[in-house]
Amino acid sequence: MSIREIDLSSVHRITSGQVVIDLPTAVKELVENSLDAHATSIEIRFKQYGLESIEVSDNGDGIPEEDMEGIALKHYTSKLQTFSDLETIESYGFRGEALSSLCAVCSSVRITTCTEASKPRATRLEYDAIGKITSKARIAGTKGTTVTLTKIFEGRLPVRRLDLVKNCKREFAKCVSLLQAYGIIKLGVKIIVSNTLTSGKRNKLFSTNGNSSVDRNIINIFGAKQISNLQPLSLEFEISRKSLYSRSKASNSSSIQVKGFISNPTPGNGRSSPDRQLVYVNNRPCLSPAVSKCFNECYRQFNPTQYPFFVADICVDRASVDINVTPDKRTVLLHDEVLLIESLRDELLACLSESISSVSSKAQ
Ligand code: ADP
Ligand code: MG
Repeated sequence: MSIREIDLSSVHRITSGQVVIDLPTAVKELVENSLDAHATSIEIRFKQYGLESIEVSDNGDGIPEEDMEGIALKHYTSKLQTFSDLETIESYGFRGEALSSLCAVCSSVRITTCTEASKPRATRLEYDAIGKITSKARIAGTKGTTVTLTKIFEGRLPVRRLDLVKNCKREFAKCVSLLQAYGIIKLGVKIIVSNTLTSGKRNKLFSTNGNSSVDRNIINIFGAKQISNLQPLSLEFEISRKSLYSRSKASNSSSIQVKGFISNPTPGNGRSSPDRQLVYVNNRPCLSPAVSKCFNECYRQFNPTQYPFFVADICVDRASVDINVTPDKRTVLLHDEVLLIESLRDELLACLSESISSVSSKAQ
């Protein structure tokens, strides 16, 4: 067989399927775009667990007229210009891949948007599979953006569509957990999540009130009962390493803060499964099996039959974390992870044993 170049639209569909791997990633990308646009209210509406459509409405900055052509094209972003910006970038998005990939894997993508300057005139746009505008209409609207995705994967990635149809409730549950993670950490942002079934019945999953503290968000999402058996977590430590590269014996150190909440370690206060464990790195929800394992192992030394609820935001120096490891950006690379986990374990054990001893001294 001769070697040939793959045609561009096939390349686009192949790579898009790697960016938007599943329903949760699609939802995550839309919510992150709303957060990047400084929204203080975000409503996420699923139809039939997301199989029919997913709609995310925000009251953020909106999309200016001159950007409308470009936003759904590959690598068009308003957030990053050069590679070195990656070291300092604070926004969730930076690669300009989400909208373009969503266009490639959804039956349709519709965006209605309105900026402060264009208010009360909004623009309703539809994009085709390669991210080109196919229709544009002026309508009345308020500041913000609504993105509607219909029938994700249908006709575009058939195997993935079949898999989603089969497992839609499980995938939907993952979306809700992911949205809870943003709902908890985001202060001053109201997040409302609902699902409407084909029968027309609408279920509200949760909503936060734009609170100014994480504990208020925990109450909104998991209830007052959950907060009653938690204790605040506030750890601060340094990790130092000998520089591998310099000839001098000088070591450099970086300071780490871990903020959040954890179940009281006394038996009865934990949970029967590790279902509410939220890890963040610098405010970004992420997956860190090593951090989760460390929390579970430490907690279970005091309460061996249960798992902790925990919210842990690991704040590290921006230069010692790489968020661009996987297309969904959920896996982050922490430099010195082994050293960090070692110190975290010591600090966490000390903190939990202190709370155990304060409970027992109160009981006496
Ligand atoms: P990225 O987030 O990496 O820039 P995306 O494909 O997710 O790439 O979005 C492309 C661009 O579309 C963004 O840079 C932003 O300018 C614009 N955009 C997308 N969603 C919104 C939104 N909800 N509000 C305002 N602008 C948006
Ligand atoms: Mg984005």
